[in-house]
Amino acid sequence: MLTQRLILTGDEATDKPLIQQAAAIIRAGGLVAFPTETVYGLGADALNSEAVRRIFLAKGRPAWDPLIVHVDTPEAIRRYTRDHSVLTERLIQTFMPGALTLVLPKREMISEVVTAGRDTVAIRIPQHPVARALIRYSGTPIAAPSANQFGRPSPTTADHVLHDLGNAIEAVLDAGPTPLGVESTILDMTTFPPTLLRPGGVPKEAIEAVIGEVRVVGSVASEGEPLPAPGLSARHYAPKAKVLLCVPEPEVFYGTLKDALSQYAIVGGLRPEGWRVPDDPRLRIFEWGAWGDWETLAQRLFAGLRTLEAEQAHAIVCPMPPDEGLARALRDRLQRAAHEEPTRH
Ligand code: AMP
Ligand code: MG
Repeated sequence: MLTQRLILTGDEATDKPLIQQAAAIIRAGGLVAFPTETVYGLGADALNSEAVRRIFLAKGRPAWDPLIVHVDTPEAIRRYTRDHSVLTERLIQTFMPGALTLVLPKREMISEVVTAGRDTVAIRIPQHPVARALIRYSGTPIAAPSANQFGRPSPTTADHVLHDLGNAIEAVLDAGPTPLGVESTILDMTTFPPTLLRPGGVPKEAIEAVIGEVRVVGSVASEGEPLPAPGLSARHYAPKAKVLLCVPEPEVFYGTLKDALSQYAIVGGLRPEGWRVPDDPRLRIFEWGAWGDWETLAQRLFAGLRTLEAEQAHAIVCPMPPDEGLARALRDRLQRAAHEEPTRH
């Protein structure tokens, strides 16, 4: 199958027929990758079990790892889920559309293939105009995980999607790089207080300002520990290179790069603006952005890992963001990207 790249320009008149073409593919049970404000998603009709099964096959995603359902209105959330608390309604009003996913009890029409057999469903309203138009023209909720091979860094451009899934899906809507660059925050509303399952685009502090205390499960589960949520594997978002995290100080970054150069033939670095690096032809540098500018660093994180991987780096050195605000999402993704698989015998 030849994956079609449908290039959008931001001009509504020329984009509309392309998005309608993509919607027709979704309605026919096909797979379309599309931009959201977080990362590119791999979409299928959430009410069509066969179509949803194809998502798992294309990504190599295990069937026990449930998908997020994307809808375009609060009414649609009410249509596909049950038991809304006052807190849920407040979150919908404040953060939707946006990078917040809520886990809620599901109604019957949402396929068990989507939820991996659970009686809850993860659901959100994306903000990206292309994602919203695609959902509207499809006339159906769209199940969509990130449009990458399972376990790899998430895709923030159509090129990333085609690199991982080219010829395994019908089409990709190309609207350029995604604005946020990290996935949505996932909040489980079936517990009290609600449980933060994955840090993401909406910081915990912003959520707590609206609904009060939120419970946080242990960040990265170590081997043998039960996962805080299905699919939150310790190793994830990982490039082929080994990811080496360091204390976020310029001198430590420099020293870690030096050490890495003594152990690996080619070394990559995600460099915060202005930080010094060793002078070595075996070093590949990705200019990441100003340290502390978490919006920019989030937007460029996955592209940085993929770029350095493509430049054949065997190890990638990266300073560790702090445990606060949007930086918490970067920290989470980097910890998982750096996690070692247990040795298999
Ligand atoms: P992705 O779409 O690749 O960003 O992954 C979505 C993640 O959402 C999954 O890996 C799960 O961790 C989480 N998730 C989806 N549905 C549920 C659910 N019903 N209960 C708990 N977590 C969920
Ligand atoms: Mg994913």
